[in-house]
Amino acid sequence: MLFHFRNSDLQECGYARQHAVSKMLAMNTSHAQSSAKPLGAQARFEQALDAGRFEIQRCRACERHIFHPRQLCPHCGSNSLEWVAPSGLGHVYATTTVRLSPEHPYDVSLVELDEGVRLMTRVRNLEPGAIKIGSRVRMAIVHENGKSRIECDALEADR
Ligand SMILES: [Zn+2]
Repeated sequence: MLFHFRNSDLQECGYARQHAVSKMLAMNTSHAQSSAKPLGAQARFEQALDAGRFEIQRCRACERHIFHPRQLCPHCGSNSLEWVAPSGLGHVYATTTVRLSPEHPYDVSLVELDEGVRLMTRVRNLEPGAIKIGSRVRMAIVHENGKSRIECDALEADR
């Protein structure tokens, strides 16, 4: 927002000028607050996750799902994206065991959601060696130390 003052408005006296400047700063501040920039896609995703909602994006133009969060559709370039709740189901696309500590190996698994997008996560209800590619999983939100993340559980029937 631009402010236009005639010089005579501001130079009447020091007080008036100071007052005008203070008012401009106040107006700028309130303007900045009232039209706060929309959250970036990643921040929007994290905010929903903190509130207990796992949401991914879907492109209104080509109707494909998108993850990780983006400003533009990676398939068609459209900026017309909406947030949707996925089914929460998927399968293990790839998995590996990390052995930084021999006593506590853990898995890093790439899960493909039924919506067709993939995310890196962990299968928390199986030992790393027991995780099979293709196993059905259900996603879950984990809140820990003030942070939220997505993990998943292998579904009973597929074990
Ligand atoms: Zn698209």
